[in-house]
Amino acid sequence: MVAVLVAAGAGRRMGADKLWIELHGRPAWRWSLDALLAVPGMQRVVVVIPAGAEERFAAALPAEAADRCLLVNGGAERVDSVTAGITALTAAGMPDDMPLLVHDAARPGASSALMLRVADAVALGHAVIPVVPLHDSIKRVDTTGRVIAPVDRESLMAAQTPQAATLGELRAALEESRAWGRAATDEASALASGGITVHTVPGEAGNLKMTEPGDELRIAAVLAVSGSPMSVPAVASRQRAGIGFDAHRRESGRALVLGGLKFPGEEGLAGHSDGDPALHAVIDALLGAAGAGDIGSLYPPDDDRWRGADSGALLEEAVERLATAGWAPSSIDLVIVAPHPAVAPRRDEMIIRIAGLCGIASDRVAVKGTTSDGLGFAGSEGIAAYAIAVVSAKAPAE
Ligand code: MG
Repeated sequence: MVAVLVAAGAGRRMGADKLWIELHGRPAWRWSLDALLAVPGMQRVVVVIPAGAEERFAAALPAEAADRCLLVNGGAERVDSVTAGITALTAAGMPDDMPLLVHDAARPGASSALMLRVADAVALGHAVIPVVPLHDSIKRVDTTGRVIAPVDRESLMAAQTPQAATLGELRAALEESRAWGRAATDEASALASGGITVHTVPGEAGNLKMTEPGDELRIAAVLAVSGSPMSVPAVASRQRAGIGFDAHRRESGRALVLGGLKFPGEEGLAGHSDGDPALHAVIDALLGAAGAGDIGSLYPPDDDRWRGADSGALLEEAVERLATAGWAPSSIDLVIVAPHPAVAPRRDEMIIRIAGLCGIASDRVAVKGTTSDGLGFAGSEGIAAYAIAVVSAKAPAE
């Protein structure tokens, strides 16, 4: 993921310095830069600035992320500035299939959640823009200001930024619209006239563009509510949670495997694999958190490969699946419901085993044993387990 932040606008109505208006202690343009830098996997952000402003912008870059920021000079029109940003990203070695967000620095109210929504959509391969519905009636008027005709607003939406496509797609679309002499007012127009389907995600009412003097007051009010001055750390550690449940009935003649441990002398559990409901609940919780499927579809009971399988190996494979999807286990909380065996005497051993299989520190795993007070199947006929897993987005590969 890469981004171009357009901060080279002439600011015809508000004056060129509108991007330097302080909003809760940060210049307006820094709000957008910080929100872009917080998108998981964001490798580079090019800030396109007016000629001669290098020193001023360089001094105001966030120190901890300055190595991910590039400053380049923009051109006369927006399309020239975006093209300059794309050229700089290509020169920095970014491939054409890299997802790219283009954001207008005059929209400091765009939240991190909006950036993520657009980033998630473009990562799936869609050119995408955020849009908001129009609430006012729309009229077409003539040059004297008289109403000519009403316009049906049902099919109309207002386009915002960030707008996104792959680096190569957007470069080609901008080159083509330039060749045809069309002045693309935004990236979506260039993409659409280049024949690329542009999808939409919900925009935000607070993602206002600073256009007229006084707009900064409305945006400051938006930021005061939405963006308690540093929303970056919360987003940088993007996390999701998942839940898992499993239960297996007792089956005589089988050895009990529970939480990845063997319990000699205990009657085991039925099941296609080794029948360990605790690890199965953990696997389902992890897969669910990452949106990476579920244990039933990944290890189907009618597949002979999993007959008697070690559930520990299945858990390790699930963790690899998470890694492929860009997630890593962060914490696990597991509850085992069984009248026997008692979990407490082997709790630490089980925690260490599960933490090892998940590749996390043992203080991030909790295991609790309980009973159902003799009630229901977990009171006599089997063992049940519940797990909650939290996963974190992996750091971007540099
Ligand atoms: Mg199971």
